[in-house]
Amino acid sequence: MTKATPENFIALLELQRRDARMTHLEESLKTLQSEPELVTALKRRQAAVAKAKELNTQRAHVEQAAALAEQKVTDLLDRLEKDRARRDAGGSAKEVSALQRQIDSLTTQVEKARAAKAVSGEKLDAFMTERSAILPKLQAADAAAKRLVAATQEKGAAMQAEHGQLAGERDQYVTAVDNAALVSRYQKIRTGGHAVRVAATTRTGATCGSCGSTMSPVELSEVEADPTEVSTCPSCGAIFAS
Ligand SMILES: [Zn+2]
Repeated sequence: MTKATPENFIALLELQRRDARMTHLEESLKTLQSEPELVTALKRRQAAVAKAKELNTQRAHVEQAAALAEQKVTDLLDRLEKDRARRDAGGSAKEVSALQRQIDSLTTQVEKARAAKAVSGEKLDAFMTERSAILPKLQAADAAAKRLVAATQEKGAAMQAEHGQLAGERDQYVTAVDNAALVSRYQKIRTGGHAVRVAATTRTGATCGSCGSTMSPVELSEVEADPTEVSTCPSCGAIFAS
């Protein structure tokens, strides 16, 4: 049998309120990193990073193709110029004729190479246009994720700070209850089960303020028989502190 005064009960409810807040903070801190909004943003960011890498690889390929096409034109023009110089320098009719055939062939090749160079230049332009349209979206996804991570960290730090303060002040609130037997019962109820439970609550007539269940008239009369005697809810086990 535990006896308690109204003042004990008021202080016990305050302890319960603060303990519940601490429990809530502990649970929120555990799930903070797995909040759907954050998880989604991080996934989007990951996809954006992958896409940016892919674009860089593609860019390197397209640029290399354009550079090769340009080099080919330069090389062919170089050979053409040399052959023309040799032809213009003169020689036997057979030599000049052979050189001319080569020059004709090179001229055709230059035309083809120029056409190929134009195509690869267009491809590069198209790619760069597409890339510049995509990049801001990737940057936005990156920035959004960073903002959310920072906000989550800030939120977590604030929760940690509040929890730390509550934990630091708990002893003084236990002392304020000023009833060791009552506190001991409270602790047993609170942490004695599988999960942390509400161990002190208010009562409105026959209705429990914690679990909401209603007592039978017999149960109620037992609870109300002696207001100084500590009674608990028959359903959830919480101490009726009022
Ligand atoms: Zn209850």
